[in-house]
Amino acid sequence: MLRNSIAGLPDYVSDSTPERIAKAAGLAKMTRLSFNENPVGTSPKVQAALENWAFSQARNYPDPDALPLRTAVAKRLDIPAEQLLFSSGLDEMIALICRTFLEVGDESLQPWPTYPEYQLQAAIAGATTINAPVIAATGLIDLDALLAHITTKTKVIWVCNPNNPTGTYLPPDQIAQFMKQVPPNILVVVDEAYIDFVNQPEPSTLSLTHQFPNLLVMRTFSKLYGLANFRVGFSIVPKALIPKMQNVRLPYNISGMSQAAALAAWEDQTFTRKVKQQIFAARKQWHQFFDQHQIRHYATQTNFMLYQVNDPQALGTFLKQHGYLVRDSMVPGWIRQSFGTPKQDAEVQQLLLTFLGIKQTSNIS
Ligand SMILES: *Cc1c(COP(=O)(O)O)cnc(C)c1O
Repeated sequence: MLRNSIAGLPDYVSDSTPERIAKAAGLAKMTRLSFNENPVGTSPKVQAALENWAFSQARNYPDPDALPLRTAVAKRLDIPAEQLLFSSGLDEMIALICRTFLEVGDESLQPWPTYPEYQLQAAIAGATTINAPVIAATGLIDLDALLAHITTKTKVIWVCNPNNPTGTYLPPDQIAQFMKQVPPNILVVVDEAYIDFVNQPEPSTLSLTHQFPNLLVMRTFSKLYGLANFRVGFSIVPKALIPKMQNVRLPYNISGMSQAAALAAWEDQTFTRKVKQQIFAARKQWHQFFDQHQIRHYATQTNFMLYQVNDPQALGTFLKQHGYLVRDSMVPGWIRQSFGTPKQDAEVQQLLLTFLGIKQTSNIS
Protein backbone atom coordinates (compact mmCIF):
# COMPACT_ATOMS: atom_id res chain seq x y z
CA MET A 1 0.00 0.00 0.00
CA LEU A 2 2.78 2.42 0.95
CA ARG A 3 5.10 3.98 -1.60
CA ASN A 4 8.54 2.30 -1.42
CA SER A 5 10.23 5.51 -0.31
CA ILE A 6 7.80 5.83 2.63
CA ALA A 7 7.80 2.13 3.65
CA GLY A 8 11.57 2.25 4.24
CA LEU A 9 11.43 5.20 6.63
CA PRO A 10 11.69 4.79 10.44
CA ASP A 11 8.40 5.24 12.31
CA TYR A 12 7.48 8.71 13.57
CA VAL A 13 8.58 9.57 17.10
CA SER A 14 6.90 12.53 18.80
CA ASP A 15 8.97 15.21 20.54
CA SER A 16 6.06 15.73 22.98
CA THR A 17 5.88 19.07 24.85
CA PRO A 18 7.94 20.45 27.77
CA GLU A 19 4.77 20.38 29.90
CA ARG A 20 4.08 16.67 29.30
CA ILE A 21 7.77 15.76 29.68
CA ALA A 22 7.89 17.65 33.02
CA LYS A 23 4.78 15.87 34.23
CA ALA A 24 6.18 12.45 33.32
CA ALA A 25 9.45 13.32 35.14
CA GLY A 26 7.55 14.55 38.21
CA LEU A 27 8.91 18.09 37.83
CA ALA A 28 7.01 21.38 37.98
CA LYS A 29 8.76 22.78 34.92
CA MET A 30 10.92 21.72 31.99
CA THR A 31 12.96 24.28 30.04
CA ARG A 32 13.45 23.29 26.42
CA LEU A 33 16.96 24.11 25.21
CA SER A 34 16.69 21.54 22.43
CA PHE A 35 14.66 23.46 19.82
CA ASN A 36 16.71 26.67 19.38
CA GLU A 37 13.68 28.74 20.32
CA ASN A 38 14.01 32.44 21.09
CA PRO A 39 14.92 32.85 24.80
CA VAL A 40 13.74 36.50 24.84
CA GLY A 41 10.21 35.80 23.62
CA THR A 42 8.15 37.63 21.01
CA SER A 43 7.61 41.31 20.25
CA PRO A 44 4.67 42.84 22.19
CA LYS A 45 3.69 44.45 18.85
CA VAL A 46 2.73 40.96 17.66
CA GLN A 47 0.31 40.57 20.53
CA ALA A 48 -1.22 43.96 19.69
CA ALA A 49 -1.56 42.99 16.01
CA LEU A 50 -3.32 39.77 16.96
CA GLU A 51 -5.72 41.57 19.27
CA ASN A 52 -6.55 43.93 16.40
CA TRP A 53 -6.98 41.12 13.89
CA ALA A 54 -10.52 41.25 12.50
CA PHE A 55 -12.21 38.10 13.81
CA SER A 56 -14.88 38.48 11.11
CA GLN A 57 -12.23 37.18 8.68
CA ALA A 58 -12.13 33.81 10.41
CA ARG A 59 -14.61 32.22 7.98
CA ASN A 60 -12.70 33.46 4.90
CA TYR A 61 -9.65 31.87 3.30
CA PRO A 62 -6.48 33.88 3.89
CA ASP A 63 -4.72 36.10 1.34
CA PRO A 64 -2.94 33.57 -0.97
CA ASP A 65 -0.24 36.14 -1.79
CA ALA A 66 0.36 37.36 1.79
CA LEU A 67 0.59 40.74 0.07
CA PRO A 68 1.23 43.17 2.98
CA LEU A 69 3.88 40.83 4.41
CA ARG A 70 5.37 40.21 0.95
CA THR A 71 5.60 43.93 0.25
CA ALA A 72 7.29 44.68 3.58
CA VAL A 73 9.83 41.85 3.25
CA ALA A 74 10.67 42.72 -0.38
CA LYS A 75 11.19 46.37 0.54
CA ARG A 76 13.62 45.86 3.41
CA LEU A 77 15.58 43.09 1.63
CA ASP A 78 15.56 45.08 -1.64
CA ILE A 79 14.41 42.16 -3.78
CA PRO A 80 11.55 41.79 -6.32
CA ALA A 81 8.33 40.95 -4.41
CA GLU A 82 7.36 38.32 -7.01
CA GLN A 83 10.49 36.28 -6.20
CA LEU A 84 9.27 35.65 -2.65
CA LEU A 85 7.64 32.36 -1.72
CA PHE A 86 6.00 31.96 1.69
CA SER A 87 5.56 28.66 3.50
CA SER A 88 4.22 27.24 6.73
CA GLY A 89 7.64 27.38 8.35
CA LEU A 90 10.81 26.36 6.54
CA ASP A 91 9.96 22.74 7.22
CA GLU A 92 7.19 23.06 4.64
CA MET A 93 9.59 24.89 2.32
CA ILE A 94 12.03 21.98 2.49
CA ALA A 95 9.21 19.55 1.66
CA LEU A 96 8.10 21.86 -1.18
CA ILE A 97 11.62 22.00 -2.65
CA CYS A 98 11.91 18.20 -2.50
CA ARG A 99 8.48 17.70 -4.10
CA THR A 100 9.36 20.16 -6.87
CA PHE A 101 12.89 19.04 -7.75
CA LEU A 102 13.55 15.49 -6.52
CA GLU A 103 12.37 12.07 -7.67
CA VAL A 104 13.49 8.42 -7.47
CA GLY A 105 17.05 8.07 -8.76
CA ASP A 106 18.08 11.64 -7.91
CA GLU A 107 20.74 12.59 -5.42
CA SER A 108 20.33 15.22 -2.71
CA LEU A 109 23.74 16.42 -1.53
CA GLN A 110 24.33 17.87 1.94
CA PRO A 111 27.01 18.40 4.57
CA TRP A 112 26.96 16.09 7.61
CA PRO A 113 25.92 16.80 10.28
CA THR A 114 23.23 19.24 9.20
CA TYR A 115 19.52 19.94 9.64
CA PRO A 116 17.85 16.47 9.48
CA GLU A 117 14.74 17.62 7.61
CA TYR A 118 16.60 17.82 4.25
CA GLN A 119 17.34 14.10 4.33
CA LEU A 120 13.86 13.11 5.54
CA GLN A 121 12.02 15.12 2.88
CA ALA A 122 14.44 14.01 0.13
CA ALA A 123 13.80 10.39 1.18
CA ILE A 124 10.02 10.92 1.06
CA ALA A 125 10.46 12.23 -2.50
CA GLY A 126 12.39 9.02 -3.28
CA ALA A 127 15.84 10.60 -3.65
CA THR A 128 19.10 9.38 -2.11
CA THR A 129 21.02 11.65 0.27
CA ILE A 130 24.78 11.93 -0.15
CA ASN A 131 26.71 13.29 2.85
CA ALA A 132 29.89 15.38 2.66
CA PRO A 133 31.31 15.50 6.21
CA VAL A 134 32.06 18.90 7.78
CA ILE A 135 35.68 19.74 8.61
CA ALA A 136 36.18 17.88 11.91
CA ALA A 137 38.60 20.37 13.46
CA THR A 138 36.38 23.44 12.97
CA GLY A 139 32.86 22.14 12.25
CA LEU A 140 32.82 24.27 9.09
CA ILE A 141 30.92 23.02 6.05
CA ASP A 142 33.47 21.62 3.59
CA LEU A 143 32.50 23.26 0.28
CA ASP A 144 35.28 21.41 -1.59
CA ALA A 145 33.96 18.10 -0.27
CA LEU A 146 30.48 19.04 -1.49
CA LEU A 147 31.89 19.83 -4.97
CA ALA A 148 33.78 16.52 -4.97
CA HIS A 149 30.53 14.61 -4.31
CA ILE A 150 28.60 16.10 -7.24
CA THR A 151 27.55 13.46 -9.80
CA THR A 152 25.29 13.50 -12.88
CA LYS A 153 22.44 12.50 -10.51
CA THR A 154 22.85 15.47 -8.16
CA LYS A 155 19.75 17.70 -8.31
CA VAL A 156 19.80 19.72 -5.06
CA ILE A 157 22.65 20.82 -2.75
CA TRP A 158 21.80 22.06 0.78
CA VAL A 159 24.05 24.61 2.47
CA CYS A 160 22.80 25.41 5.96
CA ASN A 161 24.48 28.73 6.83
CA PRO A 162 25.10 29.07 9.73
CA ASN A 163 24.97 25.29 9.96
CA ASN A 164 22.68 23.51 12.39
CA PRO A 165 24.02 21.75 14.53
CA THR A 166 27.66 22.92 14.28
CA GLY A 167 26.69 26.62 14.50
CA THR A 168 29.49 27.52 12.07
CA TYR A 169 29.22 30.16 9.36
CA LEU A 170 30.63 30.76 5.86
CA PRO A 171 30.83 34.31 4.42
CA PRO A 172 29.18 35.16 1.05
CA ASP A 173 32.49 35.35 -0.88
CA GLN A 174 33.14 31.67 -0.12
CA ILE A 175 29.61 30.72 -1.19
CA ALA A 176 30.13 32.75 -4.41
CA GLN A 177 33.34 30.82 -5.17
CA PHE A 178 31.43 27.60 -4.56
CA MET A 179 28.50 28.66 -6.79
CA LYS A 180 30.91 29.34 -9.69
CA GLN A 181 31.93 25.67 -9.63
CA VAL A 182 28.44 24.13 -9.27
CA PRO A 183 26.85 23.12 -12.62
CA PRO A 184 23.94 25.53 -13.35
CA ASN A 185 21.40 22.66 -13.60
CA ILE A 186 21.80 21.91 -9.86
CA LEU A 187 19.72 23.92 -7.38
CA VAL A 188 21.71 25.22 -4.41
CA VAL A 189 19.57 25.91 -1.34
CA VAL A 190 21.14 28.16 1.32
CA ASP A 191 19.21 27.83 4.58
CA GLU A 192 19.62 31.12 6.48
CA ALA A 193 17.39 30.24 9.46
CA TYR A 194 20.07 31.70 11.80
CA ILE A 195 21.63 34.38 9.57
CA ASP A 196 20.40 37.23 11.80
CA PHE A 197 22.55 35.95 14.65
CA VAL A 198 25.78 36.35 12.67
CA ASN A 199 27.55 39.37 14.14
CA GLN A 200 28.80 40.87 10.85
CA PRO A 201 27.68 43.79 8.65
CA GLU A 202 26.54 41.85 5.52
CA PRO A 203 26.30 38.19 6.48
CA SER A 204 23.70 37.02 3.94
CA THR A 205 24.12 35.26 0.61
CA LEU A 206 21.04 37.13 -0.63
CA SER A 207 22.95 39.54 -2.91
CA LEU A 208 24.30 36.53 -4.86
CA THR A 209 20.80 35.64 -6.06
CA HIS A 210 21.17 38.34 -8.77
CA GLN A 211 24.28 36.57 -10.05
CA PHE A 212 23.32 32.88 -9.85
CA PRO A 213 19.97 31.70 -11.32
CA ASN A 214 20.28 28.36 -9.49
CA LEU A 215 20.53 29.84 -5.97
CA LEU A 216 17.57 29.76 -3.55
CA VAL A 217 17.85 31.40 -0.10
CA MET A 218 15.54 30.46 2.82
CA ARG A 219 14.62 32.50 5.92
CA THR A 220 12.24 31.91 8.84
CA PHE A 221 10.27 33.85 11.43
CA SER A 222 10.77 31.04 13.96
CA LYS A 223 14.13 32.01 15.45
CA LEU A 224 15.05 35.74 15.62
CA TYR A 225 11.39 36.81 15.52
CA GLY A 226 10.22 34.34 18.17
CA LEU A 227 7.25 33.17 16.08
CA ALA A 228 7.83 29.41 15.85
CA ASN A 229 4.21 28.75 16.86
CA PHE A 230 2.89 30.70 13.85
CA ARG A 231 4.80 28.72 11.20
CA VAL A 232 6.01 31.34 8.71
CA GLY A 233 9.07 31.01 6.49
CA PHE A 234 10.02 32.36 3.09
CA SER A 235 12.43 31.89 0.21
CA ILE A 236 13.95 34.13 -2.40
CA VAL A 237 13.43 31.92 -5.46
CA PRO A 238 15.12 32.22 -8.89
CA LYS A 239 12.78 33.99 -11.38
CA ALA A 240 12.51 31.01 -13.74
CA LEU A 241 11.46 28.64 -10.94
CA ILE A 242 8.94 30.69 -8.99
CA PRO A 243 5.81 29.98 -11.10
CA LYS A 244 6.34 26.22 -10.79
CA MET A 245 7.07 26.33 -7.08
CA GLN A 246 3.96 28.47 -6.56
CA ASN A 247 1.97 25.70 -8.26
CA VAL A 248 3.32 23.05 -5.92
CA ARG A 249 2.69 25.17 -2.81
CA LEU A 250 -0.66 24.67 -1.09
CA PRO A 251 -2.58 27.86 -1.92
CA TYR A 252 -3.66 28.83 1.63
CA ASN A 253 -0.63 27.66 3.60
CA ILE A 254 -0.31 30.76 5.84
CA SER A 255 -3.28 31.73 8.00
CA GLY A 256 -4.35 35.38 8.19
CA MET A 257 -3.33 35.54 11.84
CA SER A 258 0.12 34.20 11.00
CA GLN A 259 0.51 36.76 8.21
CA ALA A 260 -0.47 39.57 10.61
CA ALA A 261 1.87 38.25 13.32
CA ALA A 262 4.82 37.96 10.93
CA LEU A 263 4.27 41.47 9.56
CA ALA A 264 4.19 43.00 13.06
CA ALA A 265 7.33 41.05 14.05
CA TRP A 266 9.13 42.08 10.86
CA GLU A 267 8.47 45.77 11.50
CA ASP A 268 9.58 45.80 15.15
CA GLN A 269 13.32 46.23 14.76
CA THR A 270 13.65 47.56 18.29
CA PHE A 271 12.70 44.11 19.54
CA THR A 272 14.97 42.21 17.12
CA ARG A 273 17.91 44.43 18.12
CA LYS A 274 17.25 43.51 21.75
CA VAL A 275 17.14 39.79 20.89
CA LYS A 276 20.44 40.03 19.00
CA GLN A 277 22.15 41.83 21.88
CA GLN A 278 21.04 39.14 24.32
CA ILE A 279 22.17 36.33 22.01
CA PHE A 280 25.57 37.99 21.40
CA ALA A 281 26.08 38.39 25.16
CA ALA A 282 25.08 34.78 25.89
CA ARG A 283 27.38 33.53 23.14
CA LYS A 284 30.37 35.46 24.45
CA GLN A 285 29.72 34.22 27.96
CA TRP A 286 29.36 30.56 26.89
CA HIS A 287 32.56 30.72 24.82
CA GLN A 288 34.41 32.06 27.88
CA PHE A 289 32.90 29.31 30.03
CA PHE A 290 33.96 26.57 27.60
CA ASP A 291 37.45 28.01 27.18
CA GLN A 292 37.93 28.35 30.93
CA HIS A 293 36.94 24.75 31.57
CA GLN A 294 38.54 23.38 28.41
CA ILE A 295 35.33 21.95 27.02
CA ARG A 296 35.68 21.42 23.28
CA HIS A 297 33.14 23.42 21.24
CA TYR A 298 32.73 24.88 17.77
CA ALA A 299 32.73 28.63 17.11
CA THR A 300 28.98 29.18 16.90
CA GLN A 301 27.40 32.19 15.15
CA THR A 302 23.88 31.19 16.18
CA ASN A 303 21.65 31.01 19.27
CA PHE A 304 22.84 27.48 20.10
CA MET A 305 26.10 25.59 20.47
CA LEU A 306 27.62 22.17 19.91
CA TYR A 307 30.04 20.94 22.57
CA GLN A 308 31.82 17.68 23.22
CA VAL A 309 31.45 15.51 26.34
CA ASN A 310 32.39 11.90 27.07
CA ASP A 311 28.85 10.63 27.60
CA PRO A 312 26.24 12.95 26.03
CA GLN A 313 23.30 10.67 26.89
CA ALA A 314 24.28 10.60 30.56
CA LEU A 315 24.57 14.40 30.59
CA GLY A 316 21.23 14.70 28.74
CA THR A 317 19.56 12.51 31.36
CA PHE A 318 21.19 14.45 34.24
CA LEU A 319 20.06 17.81 32.82
CA LYS A 320 16.55 16.45 32.23
CA GLN A 321 16.35 15.36 35.86
CA HIS A 322 17.11 18.98 36.73
CA GLY A 323 14.53 20.43 34.35
CA TYR A 324 16.50 21.10 31.13
CA LEU A 325 16.12 19.46 27.73
CA VAL A 326 19.10 19.35 25.34
CA ARG A 327 19.96 17.33 22.18
CA ASP A 328 22.16 14.47 23.29
CA SER A 329 21.88 12.11 20.33
CA MET A 330 22.02 14.33 17.24
CA VAL A 331 25.80 14.04 16.77
CA PRO A 332 27.61 11.13 18.49
CA GLY A 333 29.82 12.50 21.28
CA TRP A 334 28.33 15.99 21.25
CA ILE A 335 25.55 18.01 22.89
CA ARG A 336 23.55 20.62 20.99
CA GLN A 337 22.06 23.18 23.33
CA SER A 338 20.24 26.48 22.77
CA PHE A 339 21.08 29.58 24.78
CA GLY A 340 18.52 30.26 27.50
CA THR A 341 17.92 33.36 29.61
CA PRO A 342 20.98 34.52 31.62
CA LYS A 343 19.46 32.87 34.71
CA GLN A 344 18.86 29.55 32.93
CA ASP A 345 22.34 29.58 31.40
CA ALA A 346 23.95 30.20 34.82
CA GLU A 347 22.00 27.29 36.28
CA VAL A 348 22.92 24.93 33.40
CA GLN A 349 26.59 25.90 33.76
CA GLN A 350 26.51 24.97 37.46
CA LEU A 351 24.89 21.65 36.56
CA LEU A 352 27.53 21.04 33.88
CA LEU A 353 30.36 21.64 36.33
CA THR A 354 28.75 19.27 38.82
CA PHE A 355 28.26 16.61 36.17
CA LEU A 356 31.79 16.94 34.83
CA GLY A 357 33.22 16.97 38.37
CA ILE A 358 34.93 20.31 37.82
CA LYS A 359 35.76 22.29 40.97
CA GLN A 360 34.27 25.74 40.87
CA THR A 361 36.70 28.65 41.05
CA SER A 362 35.94 32.01 42.58
CA ASN A 363 35.41 33.80 39.26
CA ILE A 364 32.24 31.86 38.62
CA SER A 365 29.43 33.44 40.58
C1 LIG B 1 14.60 25.74 12.88
C2 LIG B 1 15.15 25.46 11.53
C3 LIG B 1 14.34 25.43 10.40
C4 LIG B 1 12.84 25.32 10.46
O1 LIG B 1 12.24 26.40 10.86
P1 LIG B 1 10.65 26.58 10.73
O2 LIG B 1 10.53 27.80 9.90
O3 LIG B 1 10.18 26.74 12.13
O4 LIG B 1 10.06 25.37 10.08
C5 LIG B 1 14.92 25.31 9.16
N1 LIG B 1 16.25 25.18 9.03
C6 LIG B 1 17.06 25.16 10.09
C7 LIG B 1 18.51 25.01 9.89
C8 LIG B 1 16.53 25.26 11.37
O5 LIG B 1 17.33 25.15 12.42
